[in-house]
Amino acid sequence: MGVHDGLYDRMYIDGRWRPALGDDTIEVLNPADEQVVGRVPAGTAEDVDAAVRAARAAFPGWAATPPAERAARLAALRDELAARREDIAATITAELGAPISFAQGVQSGAPITVAGSYAELAARHSFEERIGNSTVLHEPVGVVGAITPWNYPLHQIVAKVAPALAAGCTVVVKPAEDTPLVAQLFAEAVHAVGLPAGVFNLVTGVGPVAGQALAEHPDVDLVSFTGSTEVGRRIGAVAGGGIKRLALELGGKSANVILPDADLGRAVGVGIANVFANSGQTCSAWTRMLVPADRYAEAVELAVAAAAKYVPGDPLDPATRLGPLVSAKQLDRVRGYIERGVAEGARIVVGGTDPVEGLERGHYVRPTVFADVTPDMTIAQEEIFGPVLAVLPYADEDDAVRIANGTVYGLSGAVWSADEATAAAFARRLHTGQVDINGGRFNPLAPFGGYKQSGLGRELGVHGLAEYLQTKSLQF
Ligand code: NAD
Repeated sequence: MGVHDGLYDRMYIDGRWRPALGDDTIEVLNPADEQVVGRVPAGTAEDVDAAVRAARAAFPGWAATPPAERAARLAALRDELAARREDIAATITAELGAPISFAQGVQSGAPITVAGSYAELAARHSFEERIGNSTVLHEPVGVVGAITPWNYPLHQIVAKVAPALAAGCTVVVKPAEDTPLVAQLFAEAVHAVGLPAGVFNLVTGVGPVAGQALAEHPDVDLVSFTGSTEVGRRIGAVAGGGIKRLALELGGKSANVILPDADLGRAVGVGIANVFANSGQTCSAWTRMLVPADRYAEAVELAVAAAAKYVPGDPLDPATRLGPLVSAKQLDRVRGYIERGVAEGARIVVGGTDPVEGLERGHYVRPTVFADVTPDMTIAQEEIFGPVLAVLPYADEDDAVRIANGTVYGLSGAVWSADEATAAAFARRLHTGQVDINGGRFNPLAPFGGYKQSGLGRELGVHGLAEYLQTKSLQF
């Protein structure tokens, strides 16, 4: 593991690595072999308080730092992350189980891109505008409490910290307990950049203790949370009680709608790749595939063929495309959903709950495709967060819209058609924050966030920056 080696039994608060006030620790396990790869302190409310006080003390100075200088620090942070890319990827593979090729690509590449995008935005953003006889100032909100999940552990941190710093806010991060090591690597990179003490702070710990203390802290002005809808609801209630600004990036059950004239082979192939990436642990994954009823059998056959390319394996092998799930808890959860799908009458065409041959250790699950799924089934309604696809038939376009919009979620989605304008017209009818047309590629500057119970607020690009700003109007 190199970088850690048990060195960091500490938390990064007020510009230095200091021991936690309590003695509790969290063991970090490698999901591929269940071996301990590190230990971090389990922070308490007192640690959170120390971090928030440091962030509060640093806020006036950082808020008054010219945007161009904040931009320069973010550019330096991007470079530090890029220089540590191999360590970042190795760490994410060790604690999350992401295949090394995916860890070296998306998992470490996206945060470098996002950090760079905020360096550029901070440099050219106008933090002032003129409206009639008013000058409107865009001022930083204050101290940010960021609570992040394990599925894209560095990206989720950077997608909050970079815009917060660009805006002039100071930050306390509480990373997921399954993946705190890459958060420590991030703190190392921040330290190397030489940000003023207290501008960025890291408190490791479990959600109901450190996370809750951060969300509740009276001196936190904005809580930004990514994770489950269940925890998001609680954090929203706590933040609401304190009249804090709130951003929630929650679950999804996104639809991949294949219109009758689409290239079925391509749409199904890309759809399978989308769902199985990161072992299905992606909030924006297209976990429901909607296919015209008269092409249903053909689509299921194509899905079976495409799924055969995803064989679970050792995440350290560069050829592996599908690693284990993050934890035993997540494995239980995913298997539970697969059982539920069978019990409710769906048909497994690939995968299932049997153990993966040759992989007795580790939290591996078979990538699974369900056919004969109806929209009301649990596996078509709830977020599973594993490599499990539900294929549903639809009768006509209106039926497809009804099914696509028929969950409590609305995070992402896809539409495929031979005619781009037809696909775009269909996309306008979807109640969701993003839609990829004919496999349109990820845009790190486009706003990302949910309709309905998928969340509040937007991350990335200028819309992500706006979350961390508040306005003051001066009338002349
Ligand atoms: P979670 O919501 O429990 O955890 C996310 C973060 O919130 C972690 O840092 C955790 O420590 C913290 N947290 C937990 N309880 C808290 C509390 N009471 N107060 C404050 N912070 C708290 O998610 P999980 O257990 O890691 O995963 C469970 C499910 O959540 C997954 O199966 C998946 O459906 C969903 N999930 C979604 C995303 C996403 O990106 N939308 C990411 C991870 C998980």
